[in-house]
Amino acid sequence: MSPTLPPAIVWFRQDLRLADNPALAHAVESGRPVIPLFVLDDLTPGEWKPGGASRWWLHHSLAALRDGLARLGAPLVLRRGPADVVVGKLAAETGAALVTWNRNYDPASIERDSRLKAELQKSSVEAVSCNGNLLNEPWTVLAGAGNPYKVFTPYYKAVLARTKAGEPRPAPDRLAAPAASPESDTLEEWGLLPTKPDWAGGMRAFWKPGEPGALERLERFLSEACEGYAQGRNIPGMDGTSRLSPHLHFGELSPRQVWHAAMGLLARDKRPSCRENVESFLREIIWREFSHGLLYHFPHLPDRPLNPRFEDFPWQPDPKLMAAWKRGRTGYPIVDAGMRQLWETGWMHNRVRMIVGSLLVKHLLQPWQAGERWFWDTLVDADLANNSAGWQWIAGCGADAAPYFRVFNPVLQGEKFDPDGRYVRRWVPELARLPDKYVHAPWTAPPMVLSGAGVVLGKTYPAPVVEHGKGRERALAAFAQVKAGA
Ligand code: FAD
Repeated sequence: MSPTLPPAIVWFRQDLRLADNPALAHAVESGRPVIPLFVLDDLTPGEWKPGGASRWWLHHSLAALRDGLARLGAPLVLRRGPADVVVGKLAAETGAALVTWNRNYDPASIERDSRLKAELQKSSVEAVSCNGNLLNEPWTVLAGAGNPYKVFTPYYKAVLARTKAGEPRPAPDRLAAPAASPESDTLEEWGLLPTKPDWAGGMRAFWKPGEPGALERLERFLSEACEGYAQGRNIPGMDGTSRLSPHLHFGELSPRQVWHAAMGLLARDKRPSCRENVESFLREIIWREFSHGLLYHFPHLPDRPLNPRFEDFPWQPDPKLMAAWKRGRTGYPIVDAGMRQLWETGWMHNRVRMIVGSLLVKHLLQPWQAGERWFWDTLVDADLANNSAGWQWIAGCGADAAPYFRVFNPVLQGEKFDPDGRYVRRWVPELARLPDKYVHAPWTAPPMVLSGAGVVLGKTYPAPVVEHGKGRERALAAFAQVKAGA
């Protein structure tokens, strides 16, 4: 490393880690002094800026990255503004000869990065983008005739056949910084944390954002994964899933690290049950890849239905119904538990995401984009690809989607996946004293049972916003209009 060479800028984005970071590794291998940079581009107009929960996570993840980089000898530079302009300016200011970053796959990033690459090259600055965020980039896994996959199972098989995640790279031992450090904002002045009011208490108790927390979580999950992920992943009352989603979204660990660690576990533990559980987990990692591929190939995924028949779906937007859903006051305990878990912790169990989503778009006939927006603002793992693919799947208009006419019954879903009511009791404490038999349908409980449990329907807990049978019929009638119009 020569501190006299023109420096390399490593532009961190959704790859807030030191280990297995190809953009960072490329800069280090160039032998140039390294300037690590993060740009907050939240003031220029544009859609899908990070929501409140994501901003909270970002603050803590950047703090961890900043501390890790400082230990290696290269201070993190924080700048705010339109990202491509800021990167170009810093390159000019520092005389950088190289800028590296790991690719994102959403349309706005692709457009901006291509523009920046061209601008940098015009100024004779080398721009190198790498794959740090996916096992396989979207254009490398294609179906017959070079078309993107729209059905998951063949995509899954193709990915299994081709994925060979090699040994992840370790974090560098140290980094050479240029003689003079560029000016930097402080993280605190960005005001990413909520203050008035501070609603993040539940999230602080639940999460440890940043690379060290991500690696701990992976290790802990894999030490237990062999014991029942395949079944446990559907039970929201259990801590049965990895909770790696925000760590993966912010790139605090790479899917390669996850894949490699899971494969290592399979090599050590030959029990068929372990294979079943670990394969079931890797299947979800491949759903993540599938969703990113969908966003890349169908850039309108966050806004418009993949199935154009749904363009004219007769949604019935209703602010009151939206408010009841957001606040966890629909009168369906499993739905309300999920919405309150989301509000408190910034995360919701996958099974419950499907149940709350289904109620919103089917029983309540609210557009899936409205649910998608709420999740965007409240999830710590809010991810443009996974969120929009998830909502389109629920609404029946996405790739490999559940058919619209399959309407979840929220009571049966609760009874099946939360049979002892543990999840509902945890998040809807006003129902905690109801016997198991009624905890998913309090309105069916005899008055004596309700009063014994301290429940007054319509007062301490709402009656259902719509009766299931009626909601289902309305949804099917709306769907019939789409079919008729097709
Ligand atoms: P695990 O079961 O441990 O899975 C491991 C990893 O696989 C996850 O961390 C995630 O990266 C990936 N994964 C799991 N399930 C899916 C899936 N269905 N689609 C794509 N990737 C998946 N996931 C997000 O990361 N961000 C979102 O904004 C998001 N929005 C969603 C919205 C809806 C309506 C639905 C139905 C699902 C959504 N998901 C989203 C997918 C899924 O619910 C979460 O990834 C999962 O609950 C995260 O918990 P976990 O890390 O414990 O998952």
